[in-house]
Amino acid sequence: MRKKVLCDILIKNTSYLDENMEVQDHVSIIVAQGKILKIFSDKADMDEETQDRYETKQIIDGENLLWIPGLVDGHMHTGQQLLKGAVLDELPMIWTRIMLPFESTLTPEKMQLSAQLAALEMIKNGTTGFIDAGSYYMEEAVKVYLESGLRGAISHSSMDQGNFPDSIRQTTDEVLASQDRLYEEFHGQGNLQVFYSLRALMNCSQELIVKTAERAREKNTKVQAHMNEYAGEVNYTLQNYQQRPVEYLDSLNVLNDHFLAAHGIMLSPSERALLAQKGAKVVHCPFSNCGKGVPETPDLLERGVCVGLGTDGAAHGGLSLWNEMKIFRSVMNAFHGVKNANPAVMPAKTILKMAFTNGAHILNEEQSGMIREGYQADLIAINWDQPQLYATANRVNTLLECVCGNDVSDSIVAGKILMHNRQVLTLDEEKIMWQAKEYYKAGR
Ligand SMILES: [Zn+2]
Repeated sequence: MRKKVLCDILIKNTSYLDENMEVQDHVSIIVAQGKILKIFSDKADMDEETQDRYETKQIIDGENLLWIPGLVDGHMHTGQQLLKGAVLDELPMIWTRIMLPFESTLTPEKMQLSAQLAALEMIKNGTTGFIDAGSYYMEEAVKVYLESGLRGAISHSSMDQGNFPDSIRQTTDEVLASQDRLYEEFHGQGNLQVFYSLRALMNCSQELIVKTAERAREKNTKVQAHMNEYAGEVNYTLQNYQQRPVEYLDSLNVLNDHFLAAHGIMLSPSERALLAQKGAKVVHCPFSNCGKGVPETPDLLERGVCVGLGTDGAAHGGLSLWNEMKIFRSVMNAFHGVKNANPAVMPAKTILKMAFTNGAHILNEEQSGMIREGYQADLIAINWDQPQLYATANRVNTLLECVCGNDVSDSIVAGKILMHNRQVLTLDEEKIMWQAKEYYKAGR
């Protein structure tokens, strides 16, 4: 008798979005050791003899489900999770008037609750991977994220110049030591990585920028920074260094394929060319960016830049990438499409790929971001058995236009089920919600 292949999950009788962005029906997917081991066509391959070869621990009935790669939030702020509702319609600069003063009052308890709520919100919205832009007490967030099973990258909020409250003021050496400590303690634990960070160029000395990039290069991890987000920031580097932000970083030898520019709104053609040439990555945050400008995404993509999508944290309209994708599509069409009479300036397939394939590439650089044999098993299921989704002439278009976070029924990360039938299995949702209500009632 042939030896049985031991597997973790069998998803039976289901549909999935393949690497060519086509929906395949009547398939079964087998997950083992964190990877997609096999995708069977039910009709051709999944006969009883074949089925008998696999011994699976868990079986998911995949009828009415459409599996797609898990979404990756390429730029979020765990430390701003409790600022939901606090910044809409506020005058600038919300970052210096609201965000930073709040972050200066963070405590380990607040950070734990922030990460718990962020993890729940991400899982329930189909986000399987995230990149946190950096805050304080990140070790509290790490504990929660390890428990949640999410894949992610965290970093320390890195600034050594500017007018900050005492609790978050650090010297250059202190910032570097905090970044190193976070990396040494947590990089590679569970599904987590630690990235180095430059919070914003206006708040980072030249010494901090150079040394941060050096350390990240030594450790083969990434550097992320808020880039070209505000006119004030572009003016700052022009005034002080007679160069635009991306050109300035290039002169300091910071740009490479391990550099991640969050936002990337006000990029000149030469900056876009530099990012492409150096292989640097960009993440837009559509809801947040609408208050600042419209990025030249068609040009970035044409130049071959890997562009992902992010939420910029819960304070900017929550952590749903479904919302971000819809806003992004609308903005791209209104700004770039209409003037050129090109309704397909940013097609559904491109936007979805930005959210999962590009997102996974920015986060992992491994075989991920697609449902394909041998790739990481980070995937989510959309419950298609609902009036807002049936009937449709094109399921890929409907994914972008109509699906929202509530339609995500299941989430699997690294071959582990994080949510089944909308029940989060890795975190105690009831307890976390009780704590969130207590926090809210206390009016903090
Ligand atoms: Zn941000």
